[in-house]
Amino acid sequence: MGLLLRTQKQQNKFTITVNTTDYPLAFCPKLGNTKQKTIISYTQHPQPEKAKEYVLQENKTNFSQKTPASSTPTNLLDPLGDGISSLELVRVSGGDIDVVNAARVSFGTLVEEISDRDEKLIRYLVQHDHTSPFEHNQLSFRVKCPLFVARQWMRHRMNSYNEISYRYTQAPVEFYLPSQWRRQDTVNKQSSIGTVSDAHVADVYRDTVQACFAAYEKMLESGVCREQARGVLPSCTYTQFIFTCNLHSLVHFLKLRLHPGAQHEIQVYAQGMLALATPHFPASLKAWQEKWGLR
Ligand SMILES: Cc1cc2nc3c(=O)[nH]c(=O)nc-3n(C[C@H](O)[C@H](O)[C@H](O)COP(=O)(O)OP(=O)(O)OC[C@H]3O[C@@H](n4cnc5c(N)ncnc54)[C@H](O)[C@@H]3O)c2cc1C
Repeated sequence: MGLLLRTQKQQNKFTITVNTTDYPLAFCPKLGNTKQKTIISYTQHPQPEKAKEYVLQENKTNFSQKTPASSTPTNLLDPLGDGISSLELVRVSGGDIDVVNAARVSFGTLVEEISDRDEKLIRYLVQHDHTSPFEHNQLSFRVKCPLFVARQWMRHRMNSYNEISYRYTQAPVEFYLPSQWRRQDTVNKQSSIGTVSDAHVADVYRDTVQACFAAYEKMLESGVCREQARGVLPSCTYTQFIFTCNLHSLVHFLKLRLHPGAQHEIQVYAQGMLALATPHFPASLKAWQEKWGLR
């Protein structure tokens, strides 16, 4: 690791000289507040065996500025509209500019502001499935959804997950009660269409679920461990998890889960994710939406 020889600040640019021959990112964690800076270039020192100079720039849209510190109406949604479900964008790093700079690194260039030319470049990348520039960013969502939605969601493997454990904690009596009942689609066998108007359906469903929760609590009171008692919880029980992805993986998720063939209950979460992510990646998400007709 290199030794810091000299730092110089001019407006929002830092020049840092170290006596290292290591590759530039290797020493960055040692430079204190560097999360808020981007290396825009590095040059050889006049005495290359002794030093390299790194020019860093304070990010205009750095991680902490872009990330809402607490929940606000703009980053917290109730996708299923029952006052229990939630989808919160808890952290974002990167933006359209990082997509552009990842693509332009091939030519050794870097831009600070998105131009029309850069938006055209983003569209070109999308049209030609040049997907890797969309991977230098991160979005973390905190999700509260029914277990059956989480099961579909977690089939998307190119992401990171951590979920509440009903071995550690007792499941609260929180379950999803649909506001409308749909009929089985006979053409697309996994899908649903129309509505079922039978007023008793909701009663049958609610009574059954409540009986399951009553059994769960009775088993816990009898001394049965949480990890076994949870076996009687229905798949509409709410769970919570953190989902972290990059933009490439997010648009793959959206392509599959905004599709009319996906179950309505996961579609509404996908719609929420698109709405929450768009302000952070407007040009990229517009281009992907155009390509796949996502709405
Ligand atoms: C409408 C719908 C219905 C579905 N129905 C069913 C069903 O009935 N039964 C069922 O089991 N699943 C079902 N699924 C889940 C589906 O098969 C996928 O597991 C899920 O959509 C995740 O997609 P993915 O693998 O592309 O995503 P990710 O797991 O996030 O993977 C992203 C990409 O990485 C690559 N990749 C990941 N893992 C591998 C690997 N092991 N080998 C090679 N490449 C890999 C692939 O290119 C993949 O597209 C359904 C999905 C949808 C959208």
